[in-house]
Amino acid sequence: MSGRRKQEFNIVLLGAVGVGKSALTVKFITRRFIMEYDPSIEDIYTKQEDVDGQELIVNIMDTFEKDDSNSDRYYSWADAYMIVYGITDRDSFATARDYLVRVTDYLKATGKDCPVALVGNKSDLERYRQITKLEGQALSCDFDGLFFECTAAEEYECVEDTFHGLIYSIQKHRGDKHTVCPPPLFISEERLQSGLKTRPRSPRNGAADKKDEKSPNKKTPTSFKLFNKSFKIFN
Ligand code: GDP
Ligand code: MG
Repeated sequence: MSGRRKQEFNIVLLGAVGVGKSALTVKFITRRFIMEYDPSIEDIYTKQEDVDGQELIVNIMDTFEKDDSNSDRYYSWADAYMIVYGITDRDSFATARDYLVRVTDYLKATGKDCPVALVGNKSDLERYRQITKLEGQALSCDFDGLFFECTAAEEYECVEDTFHGLIYSIQKHRGDKHTVCPPPLFISEERLQSGLKTRPRSPRNGAADKKDEKSPNKKTPTSFKLFNKSFKIFN
């Protein structure tokens, strides 16, 4: 093992309740899809990650913002911002826009230079899509951000590509000579086109539909504990 200190990357997930911030976090940490998660839990999770042969430490802050939350706490901690919306939920896209404004205002005010990514989650629910990829790309362009689409509910690779894309971008912003390769823009989308089959599922509005959304592969969920928090997961 080399004596060189591992680089650390702090990524904060922001976005409306229900867009899948916790699902994406736990998918990246464990490669598994959460079935249920207490929406009010907010925490930082750490993963040692091998990115193209480099051992890195990735810290992820999964947020739940209340009206009285001190947003600066999230913003100052982060090396990169992942602003998540659900592709089936137009309100969450509007909320993502508000976050883009707030984050870029914060960066301007503080002179901090960090990548910002807009992430359209739940791409497995293609049939219920309300936000086109073009709309997502256009919004991220307006804010000079990165854009990804992915799903926490299917293959791990698109979630990995999204997080790795941000890590590459942080390295680039830091001017790191050890950057392993350029940020793969839209790579998760390519993966989806080439590798994943979309499976139609119900939208997130309505209790009856919710059950369907939570059962992407009709497997019986098992209980699971991560850092003393309980999840129900699919393998
Ligand atoms: P958060 O409030 O942003 O943390 O959202 P959660 O991670 O708690 O997810 C909210 C709901 O959406 C849960 O029922 C998840 O199972 C579901 N969910 C999250 N990500 C996806 C996804 O990519 N696809 C589908 N179909 N459901 C998802
Ligand atoms: Mg959550």
